[in-house]
Amino acid sequence: MLNERVLVLNRLWQAVNICTVKRAVVLLYCGHASVVFENNGDYQTFAFNDWRDFSMRNDNGDKCIHGLKYNLIVPRVVLLANYDKVPIKDIKLTRYNIYQRDRNTCQYCGKVFDRNELNLDHVIPREMGGKTDWLNLVCSCRDCNAKKGNRTPKQADMHLVRKPRKPRWTPLTSYNLGSDTHDTWKKFIDVSHWDVDLGDEE
Ligand SMILES: [Zn+2]
Repeated sequence: MLNERVLVLNRLWQAVNICTVKRAVVLLYCGHASVVFENNGDYQTFAFNDWRDFSMRNDNGDKCIHGLKYNLIVPRVVLLANYDKVPIKDIKLTRYNIYQRDRNTCQYCGKVFDRNELNLDHVIPREMGGKTDWLNLVCSCRDCNAKKGNRTPKQADMHLVRKPRKPRWTPLTSYNLGSDTHDTWKKFIDVSHWDVDLGDEE
C-alpha cells in the first residue's frame, strides 16, 4: 500500500508528478506538502497534523496506514507547498502518444475506435517525402487508411478533422493513467493531461 500512487500537484494546483504513498507521507510529515481531500465537490487541504486528526475522526473504511500511535488515511492527492513550476521535457513520438493526442479518433472520418482498430497514417506519404513526425502522422481507421492509400489527402479527396500538431508535454504524459486512477485525480488530470496541448505552437 505504501507503494500505491499519489498524484502530486504544484502550488498552483497543476498536476506535476506521481509519487508513492510513502514519499507523499514524507513530504507531508516534513511540511512540504498537504493532503488534498475532496468532500462533496469541495477540495480541502490538510497539513500533517490536521490530516492525522481527520484520519482519526473519520475512520470509515478508507484505506489507512497503520502507525504505532495513530492511523493515517492514505492520501490520493498532495499539494506541494513551494514548488510552482511545471517540469518541461520533450514528448516522445510514439504510436501511443499519437493515439493519445488524437484521442483514438480517426482523423479522416472523425470516429473513435479501439486502439487495435487504428493505424498510423502518413498524411503526406513517405514515398512523396512525407516525414515521420508529429505534423505528418495521424490516427486513421482501417477503412480510411485503405481508401486513402498512398495519396495525399487532396489527391484522395479526404480531409483531416484537425491539423496535426506537436502536443505540449505535460508531466503525466509518460504515465499510463489507465487502470488505477483514483476518482480524486480526475479533476486535476482532465484539465492538465493533453487538454492544454494544442493551443500554442512553436
Ligand atoms: Zn476513418
